[in-house]
Amino acid sequence: MTYRARCSCPICNYEEEVWIEKGKVCFTEIISCIRCGNLYDPLEFISHLMDLRSNNTVSSKHESSSLSTFS
Ligand SMILES: [Zn+2]
Repeated sequence: MTYRARCSCPICNYEEEVWIEKGKVCFTEIISCIRCGNLYDPLEFISHLMDLRSNNTVSSKHESSSLSTFS
């Protein structure tokens, strides 16, 4: 089961979207915050999880373009 999740930077609260599979973050283990450059473990700063099948509410963000590369 793969989930999408939002994590937020512990320094500036900038939100990043990650994918979680089998309890681990896909593609990367450490997030580099786009806004402040802080490096952090996204698993420790998850703000909420989203089921993949309920992603039809996602819009207007750059993630939607990268999403298509996974499907
Ligand atoms: Zn930050």
